[in-house]
Amino acid sequence: MSPLVEVPVPDIGDFTDVPVTEVFVSVGDAIAIEDPIVELESDKASFEVPSSAAGTVKEVRVRVGDKVGEGTVLIVVEGDGEPAEPAPPAGAPAPEVEAPAAQPAVGRSTTTAAEQADAPDDFERAEVHAQVLVLGSGPGGYSAAFRAADLGLDVLLVERYPSLGGVCLNVGCIPSKALLHVAKVMAEAAESADHGVTFGEPTVDLDALRAHKEQVVARLTQGVAGMAQRRKVRVLQGEGRFTGPHHLELTSGGDGDGSPQTVSFEHAIIAAGSSVVRLPGIPYDDPRVWDSTRALELPEIPGRLLVIGGGIIGLEMATVYDALGAKVTVVELSDGLIPGCDRDLVKPLQTRLAARYEAIHTGVRVESLEPSDDGLTATFAAAGDGEPPAPATFDAVLVAVGRAANGKGLGLDQAGVAVTDRGQIEVDPARRTNVPHLYAIGDLTPGPMLAHKATHEAHVAAEAIAGQAGAAFDVRGIPSVAYTDPEIAWVGLTETQAEADGIDYEVVAFPWAASGRALATGGSAGKTKLLVDPASRRVLGAGIVGPNAGELIAEPGFALEMGADVADLALTVHAHPTLSESVGLAAEVAEGTVTDLPPQRKRTR
Ligand code: NAD
Repeated sequence: MSPLVEVPVPDIGDFTDVPVTEVFVSVGDAIAIEDPIVELESDKASFEVPSSAAGTVKEVRVRVGDKVGEGTVLIVVEGDGEPAEPAPPAGAPAPEVEAPAAQPAVGRSTTTAAEQADAPDDFERAEVHAQVLVLGSGPGGYSAAFRAADLGLDVLLVERYPSLGGVCLNVGCIPSKALLHVAKVMAEAAESADHGVTFGEPTVDLDALRAHKEQVVARLTQGVAGMAQRRKVRVLQGEGRFTGPHHLELTSGGDGDGSPQTVSFEHAIIAAGSSVVRLPGIPYDDPRVWDSTRALELPEIPGRLLVIGGGIIGLEMATVYDALGAKVTVVELSDGLIPGCDRDLVKPLQTRLAARYEAIHTGVRVESLEPSDDGLTATFAAAGDGEPPAPATFDAVLVAVGRAANGKGLGLDQAGVAVTDRGQIEVDPARRTNVPHLYAIGDLTPGPMLAHKATHEAHVAAEAIAGQAGAAFDVRGIPSVAYTDPEIAWVGLTETQAEADGIDYEVVAFPWAASGRALATGGSAGKTKLLVDPASRRVLGAGIVGPNAGELIAEPGFALEMGADVADLALTVHAHPTLSESVGLAAEVAEGTVTDLPPQRKRTR
């Protein structure tokens, strides 16, 4: 008979007498290491306790409602060997990982750094060798490199461009926010005329504006380079291609004579991001055809700008160029702007844009784009129910129809890593690919293409390589934010998703027309809504539209991650008068306690 192994609650920090809220296993179940056994809910967090043994469950020693602490035996498993070190539960405070006093010896093939001492050399070391290679220096890549270095690993960061920080810092999130801030100031100055204060027409010095944006970018990218140095992360510039599971060839780098350089590594974290999708039939070599990178360079303020794609990038860039004085037309293939976002959140944005832009066409696609001396003439066709407008000529055209994962072209077949037709790499919760010592994070992997997803995955991958048991990307929500005017933000379950998946939910909303702060600051069209589980009363998701929605979404995001009940939000004292109050007040609608609105009826699906 195989040995019986008791599986106790591992170190869960300072928590004692924590109630069991769910038991996931029964006697007779087959269980693997890392499978969840129970969910515990302290006053601060709810988290799952993974199994540290594999085999068949022989006894379950706890029930829902029992109180447990470190060492309480949860189950007894008839196992196939000794139990592993108890893994820390996901979501529980992780015990500090001690960084090795000295850099571990390089040149060994390992599964995790923890197993390194026993692992044999089984690959040829190149001139440049690292314990951990990170390919790509965007928010995912640099976070992975820095976390791995902080855990005592020897790290090499490879980036094709001279500047670190990837799309986000150089040609994405950060420069766009610098320009969107200016657009916001201009819009508010113009709107203050309604409140009795009139400014003169603004004059835009495009060179100075560009310089300001570049200064913001430079400060951040140099900051990243400085942090790499401080952590002793080596950085190599060059285009990396895998030539085997432990080798990468670097070409067209900025160093040396440009001859290829080979790198060997024990583990790699692939963080090579995504690229803009190109539409067929578009004359991309015409300088008046822009992608988002070109648009952020502020080449000119076109008289008429056509934006193809009413997603987040298209609308953020439209916001900038509209403020700078361009006449904007948006063409969106699907039947509404920002597909995937709930329509009630998009409505205040669409209303504002319809009043400002030359035109917004949904359910329409561009059929052809003909360059001439007068501009770029677009013809349109219906896509779905849309009404195609007559052909029109524009001074510039921005194509923002999405991004595609960069998994192809990295030589990953040579490394044995499976890449989908869409260029994505499938990963397990630790962000491990089908080749166990190779990890992938960020835009290359399934899920939303967002910097904050990548940075969290980055930490997980680095921690898994460092041997931290239980390292897993296991979150309940990843916030999305459109930095438009007004902003739109959402986290967790949306009504669109709930309807599609047949999930029961209750929805409550607090209209900002009833918020003194919103009325005083021009945000009365805003709204905060919460989706609540009708049975458990837990927060399932949230959506906000209005100024600062991107900041305000953090609180419901936190509630979601903590497994909070909607009552927790309602009972949290929010400062008055703030926009953040709207979260508490929406929760009061759910609780039936709101007094800042007429008597409310709840809507349940
Ligand atoms: P997107 O997928 O968000 O939007 C592209 C839009 O183009 C969609 O609405 C799509 O329906 C439309 N479209 C596709 N083909 C079209 C065609 N032929 N004609 C007209 N419209 C067409 O992609 P994006 O805006 O390019 O952004 C790319 C990625 O970067 C997204 O994942 C986005 O979430 C992310 N991003 C996020 C932020 C942010 O968080 N604020 C900012 C920028 C980008």
